[in-house]
Amino acid sequence: MTEIKSNLNVVLSNIRKLENSHNRIRESVKLLAVSKTKPIEDIQRAIDCGQKDFGENYLNEAIHKMEYFRDQDCIWHFIGRVQSNKTRIIAENFDWVHTVDRIKIAQRLSIQRPENLSPLNCCIQINIDDEPSKAGVSYEQAEQLISDTSALPRLRIRGLMVIPATRLVYNEQLAIFNKVEELFTILQKKFPLMDTLSMGMSGDLEAAIAKGATIVRVGTAIFGKRPL
Ligand SMILES: *Cc1c(COP(=O)(O)O)cnc(C)c1O
Repeated sequence: MTEIKSNLNVVLSNIRKLENSHNRIRESVKLLAVSKTKPIEDIQRAIDCGQKDFGENYLNEAIHKMEYFRDQDCIWHFIGRVQSNKTRIIAENFDWVHTVDRIKIAQRLSIQRPENLSPLNCCIQINIDDEPSKAGVSYEQAEQLISDTSALPRLRIRGLMVIPATRLVYNEQLAIFNKVEELFTILQKKFPLMDTLSMGMSGDLEAAIAKGATIVRVGTAIFGKRPL
């Protein structure tokens, strides 16, 4: 058994166990395999194990991979920072964008989404630590941005995404994800079509699942360490 295959099995069975221990509905947490910087062969191994959802941050390598796997029914998620001059290539090629944090970007994605494709699934990225240097809209501004972007015809606003600062202590991870879950619950009352909470990576998977994540984005635990 290749390492990727066994890693993937471990991550998946861990997710199922955590759903159970945190009173989550079975299979309510989807695994997004983050394949950035990893070669085609690694993605192929994951596909061979039945993995369908892949996350990429860097457009040039992502385009190459999506082209290569065009005939497989993979679902491609853009999870990197969106530059406004790159929105067309994202709108034309991806199924999901997790990192929408400005109306201008959302407007461009909506206009540029091809007619023959279904609306682009989007998450609004929240800067939950409120660090000015980091991407994401503030907790306070989230509602306005969701309201504005929900009106765009070629986007489907699916929920929230966060990349919290690294916290090694479980209770601190829980506290930050709890804040996200509270915000999500409030916003879902106003925007009932939202069904997605994209949070949790290799190092904070359990806390994210405990606090309602529906998509966890896992790279290292599946594909191994990345070059720095
Ligand atoms: C790289 C990346 C991940 C995966 O992180 P790991 O710690 O390798 O699991 C998840 N989300 C985003 C946005 C990333 O850029």
